[in-house]
Amino acid sequence: MDEGIWRAILAEIEVSVSRASFITWFRNTTLAESTDDVATIKVPNIFAKQQLEVKYADTIKGLLEKHGLKPKRIVYSIATTSPSSQKSESVATQAQTAQATKPRPNAAPVINEKYNFENFIVGSGNEFAYAACQAIAQNPGTKYNPLFIYGGVGLGKTHLIQAVGNGIKTNHPESRIVYVSTETFVNEFLDSIRFKKQGFADRYRSADVLIIDDIQFIAGKEKTQEEFFHTFNALHQANKQIILTSDKPPKAIPTLEERLRSRFEWGMAIDIQPPDLETRQAILQAKASSHGVILRDEVIDVLAKAIQTNIRELEGSLNQLLAFCELRNIEPDIATAQALIKGKQTRPRHLTPKGIVEKTASHFDIPFSDIVSAKRDKDIVTPRQVAMYLLRSELHMSFPKIATELGRKDHTTAIHSVDKVESLIGHDFVMRQHVQEIREKLHG
Ligand code: ADP
Ligand code: MG
Repeated sequence: MDEGIWRAILAEIEVSVSRASFITWFRNTTLAESTDDVATIKVPNIFAKQQLEVKYADTIKGLLEKHGLKPKRIVYSIATTSPSSQKSESVATQAQTAQATKPRPNAAPVINEKYNFENFIVGSGNEFAYAACQAIAQNPGTKYNPLFIYGGVGLGKTHLIQAVGNGIKTNHPESRIVYVSTETFVNEFLDSIRFKKQGFADRYRSADVLIIDDIQFIAGKEKTQEEFFHTFNALHQANKQIILTSDKPPKAIPTLEERLRSRFEWGMAIDIQPPDLETRQAILQAKASSHGVILRDEVIDVLAKAIQTNIRELEGSLNQLLAFCELRNIEPDIATAQALIKGKQTRPRHLTPKGIVEKTASHFDIPFSDIVSAKRDKDIVTPRQVAMYLLRSELHMSFPKIATELGRKDHTTAIHSVDKVESLIGHDFVMRQHVQEIREKLHG
């Protein structure tokens, strides 16, 4: 009987709140118990508990009453799901810091348990991708194979595919899941050739589920593409699940072998779109809740309206706001949120990526066309590295973006360049002088 009542109540709530809120806060709730004294509503996690307690308490009370239930108290209790152990996140970085002069250690699976379906907010931009991922977590290898998810930076691709990995771990503990970034895949492959390391092909081809993040970075790497082609075929023929992400659709990945491109399109290619306002609001509420903070809708709105296309940035601005307020021991309010947003926008406007690259080229007296070319002469390579460094330090650009700005496909070059210039500035007077002079030209 209670079950029917709760279903009816949920149906009413569903039409009165936003879709994102409904899915986020009310999905997987049940009315576990109801007596004259107490009604116990089971919720999937602490965030839902906080939201229901704080924001929806009156609504729920009213609806229960409407259906003849008048408990003295309403208790929200967190349903225990499968326990998830606290694995370390640090393994992720091990493989990357290794020198190229010796083989890197095999990257351990680095699926991060903090990325799961429960804390992924569903909205119009990502609901299709979310549904496909959930289906795969239930039954890997049956539908949507390969699954190819693409979309802009910071829209939740990595989060979603790790959620699939975590879901499969729970639902099919015996499955062998191999999760890697494309960068790791490429590095391991190159090491396997260079150092005749055994086991590369086996490791990947014995997977039940192969998840590879940012596959666009395989562009231009012919040997790796060839190897991946064989891995793909072996797994696909054996009905093993393959999941790939990319920042662009298969068609738009440059220098991707045709046979791989067509394979990427065999199963299902789904895009993730930037979140709409409601979704951004729900994400901010959820993230705030996870810090134990409930923010007023008006404060949420300031951030949600200002930051529209990148969820990582949205999250970052929330963290800044919370940290700022905690430090000063004040409540996050509209004025503080606005000040924070304004601070972000007053970043020097005249500085553009192209402007930085141009000024760097002219400082070193080389043509713009050279600095963005593939030329490897030392008098071109150094200015290019400095330009990459300045794009990072002045505009905080991501490494893939920096690489693209200088005509590179591979973002590892950008990482390396920025590192190099940074360390040179530490001990090389000439380099320090160069960077300082260009900075003066940029800001002057
Ligand atoms: P991408 O791989 O597409 O660049 P990420 O998966 O790394 O993006 O997401 C960036 C950040 O935003 C992560 O911290 C992630 O948890 C968060 N995020 C993205 N989408 C959502 C969502 N729908 N709900 C909750 N958090 C999200
Ligand atoms: Mg990602």
